[in-house]
Amino acid sequence: MSTDYQAIINRIKDEVKPLLTQGKVATYIPALARINPYRFGMAVYTINGELFTCGDAQEYFSIQSISKVFTLARVMDRLGDALWDRVGREASGNPFNSLVQLEYENGKPRNPFINAGALVITDCFIQEEQNAMSKLRDFVRACAANPNIDFDEEVAASEKLTGHRNAALANFLKSYGNLINEVEEVLDVYFHQCSLSMSCADLSRAFLFLANAGTDPLTCAAVCGPRQAKRINALMQTCGLYDEGGEFAYRVGLPGKSGVGGGIVAVMPGELTVAVWSPALNQAGNSLAGMKALELFTTYTARSIF
Ligand code: GLU
Repeated sequence: MSTDYQAIINRIKDEVKPLLTQGKVATYIPALARINPYRFGMAVYTINGELFTCGDAQEYFSIQSISKVFTLARVMDRLGDALWDRVGREASGNPFNSLVQLEYENGKPRNPFINAGALVITDCFIQEEQNAMSKLRDFVRACAANPNIDFDEEVAASEKLTGHRNAALANFLKSYGNLINEVEEVLDVYFHQCSLSMSCADLSRAFLFLANAGTDPLTCAAVCGPRQAKRINALMQTCGLYDEGGEFAYRVGLPGKSGVGGGIVAVMPGELTVAVWSPALNQAGNSLAGMKALELFTTYTARSIF
């Protein structure tokens, strides 16, 4: 019998409602602080092309760190193993914007999803692509099959004004010779990639290639190779949820990536992707209701990668 995803996500939306008041929206990027914390949306996309949505699933929001998966996919495809000379593949056990570990480890970030690692990936992306910003936007538009996806200039500018910690990380990386381009340029592309505005429906569509061994199942276009897709999923599993990767693996059991805009995307290889958005965050910086929604999703579908 086929799974009734629509009934499942409708039920989840009702069940997480009491949680919407419990988290806090990110305030360190002023433009994000204004978001209504009570929004909730969820989208499931199967590799057969069926989309199920509920709540605010078509609402655009700031994808923030979820964007790090797109740049990584691109850079892994271009650079292959050379990338790992500049960034590691282990969970950091530290906050996503920590400076301390970077010094101990001589300017080589622990993984591509903490901010220091993501800045290195963005640097690689700029190195590989002319007009990096528009190339990235085109790539994301193609993955999501939505030509209207764009940067949110207000969010990018807001983060630029207050992103002193990211500026510190970028300067630090530069001092270790682990940033090739100018600090200003890397930060500019980085703040823009984080500002990309997408919906749950977009994100679930855009991540389908990771549920299908690197190939977009609907267009049959190869986005990355099967090895890369496997490895990106592995990195999301171990490093994709800030300092809460263990909790997410335990409760949800799928590779995923979150952002401080309140989005989380998870991948069930060979089957589907699921994206959720609820802007109020828990203490680790992950969407509080989003974590619960994904936990309920794998509970009610009785499936996970484990
Ligand atoms: N642009 C945010 C920052 O660098 C991304 C944070 C996130 O979503 O993890 O602080």
